[in-house]
Amino acid sequence: MKRPARPRRPIGVSAQMALGFGIFALVTVVLLWVFQIFLLNPFYQAIKTQEAEQTAEAIVRQLDSDQLDAAARALCIKSGSNIFVSDSRGRQPVGYKHIFQDSLTAGLSQIERAALFDQVNLHGGEYTQFFRSRQTGGTELLFYAVTVRTPSGLDWMVAVETEITPMSATVETLLAQLICLTLVLLPLGILLAVYIPRRLTRPLTKMNEAAKLLGQGDYSVRFAGRGAREVSELSATLNFAAAELSKADRLRRELLANVSHDLRTPLTMIKGYGEVMRDLPGENTPENVQIIIDEAGRLNDLVNDLLDLSRLEAGVIRLEKERFNLTESIRAILTRYDKLADYRFPFTAEEEVYVLADKLKISQVVYNLVNNAVNYAGDDKTVSLRQETAGERVRVLVSDTGEGIPADKLQDIWERYYKVDREHRRTQVGTGLGLSIVKNVLDLHGGAYGVISEQGKGSTFWFELDTAPEEEAKGDV
Ligand code: ADP
Repeated sequence: MKRPARPRRPIGVSAQMALGFGIFALVTVVLLWVFQIFLLNPFYQAIKTQEAEQTAEAIVRQLDSDQLDAAARALCIKSGSNIFVSDSRGRQPVGYKHIFQDSLTAGLSQIERAALFDQVNLHGGEYTQFFRSRQTGGTELLFYAVTVRTPSGLDWMVAVETEITPMSATVETLLAQLICLTLVLLPLGILLAVYIPRRLTRPLTKMNEAAKLLGQGDYSVRFAGRGAREVSELSATLNFAAAELSKADRLRRELLANVSHDLRTPLTMIKGYGEVMRDLPGENTPENVQIIIDEAGRLNDLVNDLLDLSRLEAGVIRLEKERFNLTESIRAILTRYDKLADYRFPFTAEEEVYVLADKLKISQVVYNLVNNAVNYAGDDKTVSLRQETAGERVRVLVSDTGEGIPADKLQDIWERYYKVDREHRRTQVGTGLGLSIVKNVLDLHGGAYGVISEQGKGSTFWFELDTAPEEEAKGDV
């Protein structure tokens, strides 16, 4: 049987960086060598040729003037070159020898000079040649000549000869320098290639170990990534993720405890009342039946909340948008609280406002907010509702004068399973899911929401939706 191929382990950061550094150091050294040693001579020759061309050009400009002689002499000294000027027939009006030993032009006869003129002409009027001096053991020389016709109609040849300073001494110096440089650069490159990646990867390796622990459910791990900015940012992000995971885990445990408690309370009541009614015929009263029905209703609400939230969070819920009268539906919700005779629900709305939204879900939002306000209402037992319109937005506010919410908890209350006061309210109020459902529904609608609360004075929860004016809605249909 064939064994499955093991996936190839990706190359580590250290190895990749070492490779990068190695290649970089190598390329730098090679380039230095190529430029300094191998290209030095050609560069130098090119520069010298250019200089000779410029000298010849300066002479050409003076050909018709009587300053030619003086100019040639001056240039000869300045540029350190031999300068010869002769006409097409080899007559040589000017000849300055500045330097050295060999020369292609010095000592030529008139016929030879005429021949040289023709040769330069054959090369298209410009001729360059490098040659070695026979006299001084091979000094390199440059011969450059051009032929021109002056405005006065005469043909001339201007030749410049110059010495190319021996490069070998320079090259040797450079070679020695380069060897030193290579000896320093390569070990330094290797040292950096080993040191820097190690510095970078050490915190990563540590964080990886911590992340493994986190993966195994140890939420107390802390990532201590010091070093590069990205590393400490990553470690801060991971710390945040660990804290969030631990929070979610704690909330999940609490929810389990809450839910089982909340399920058990009505179930115990239902069972208890049922048994009493079975065993004692006198207890079979409408009041007791109502208690059983109420408790079943509570159970139903709880299960529905849980189902709603899990569906909202799974993203499988589709909004069934319709145009409806929001003001009207708030009023309808408030009639449900008629049973709470000692509570008051004043509602102010300037106008009837229509919105395009999922009616059931928005009603659930209002219901959850009012329910919370009732649960946390102050001694005045008043929950006031207000509906305001501004432009194309409608805002619904639900206020109570109860205990309020501490400022540092305002962020958390929208999280699922969260309850500000975990210990005391458990039996009275819900599961910590209500606001989470509100948040999810409004997010789906693209609506805004928030809370203003002051401890001891009460809270005002609000949400906003786009209004759907009549014309627009008709146009849609
Ligand atoms: P619950 O079912 O516990 O009310 P919610 O998600 O509706 O869950 O609310 C989360 C928490 O926010 C509540 O447990 C409570 O501590 C706080 N809260 C919500 N509404 C109010 C309010 N009107 N006044 C004070 N605290 C509130």
